[in-house]
Amino acid sequence: MKLFKTLFATALILLSSAAFSANIQVQAVSQHVHILSGKDYGTNIGLFDTPDGLVLIDPMPGEPYLAELEKTIQTIYRKPVTHIINTHAHADHTGGNAFFASRGAQLVTGTINRFDITHRVVKSHTGTDNIYYYKPGNVIFVGDVFDTSWHPTFYAGGVAGFNQAIETILSLGDEQSLVVPGHGEAASKTLLRAFRQNTLDWVNMVRTLSKQGLSLEQIMADKRAVELVARFNPQGKSPFLPSKAYERFVQRTLQVIEHESL
Ligand SMILES: [Zn+2]
Repeated sequence: MKLFKTLFATALILLSSAAFSANIQVQAVSQHVHILSGKDYGTNIGLFDTPDGLVLIDPMPGEPYLAELEKTIQTIYRKPVTHIINTHAHADHTGGNAFFASRGAQLVTGTINRFDITHRVVKSHTGTDNIYYYKPGNVIFVGDVFDTSWHPTFYAGGVAGFNQAIETILSLGDEQSLVVPGHGEAASKTLLRAFRQNTLDWVNMVRTLSKQGLSLEQIMADKRAVELVARFNPQGKSPFLPSKAYERFVQRTLQVIEHESL
């Protein structure tokens, strides 16, 4: 058993470092779970090798990259994708559905109670955000409810929907579960809790500054706002947020606050 484990670990390292393709990154979570991501959108794409088929989560758009993605999947499992599921309807998560459907995969929508997947629906980033917990790999794919490479985008559910969504994710699996955001590196529940706290701190701070009568520009320039936004950059990306995106984030946060006080 020990030998097998060692061999398996070695195989994983080789698998991770092997140059499958120039534009697709591969992370082996276990024998039956892989996280792939394309260079252009950086969408985290899931691959579950289940007894009921090879399930693909959130293929990104873009023909040349999709061909590379398919080749990479073929290299890993030597069999075709049988099913596609999506965390939410945005194009950077569904754009590759048609490509795999045209190759025989079936798009599965609605409530999923097969493939050993525990499925929950929340409302935070969009009106329908799907959370997929795959117990055999102890991974939770959460789409854009969580992001480790960008600021939070809780615009559909507001603070209440966001809190509910995070609670739902935390209720799945255990402390060792790997939480896979829509974009950015996979993380622990500890990091997810920090993300929740940072998000709540952010909203409270923008609310306070707005109540004090600060304008959009003044909020953006406030030292506390700048410091808080930097907390959404755990990977230390530089540059992090373009100023247009930062402005939009403050604007949308103000809209959420306004909407909730109605
Ligand atoms: Zn996305």
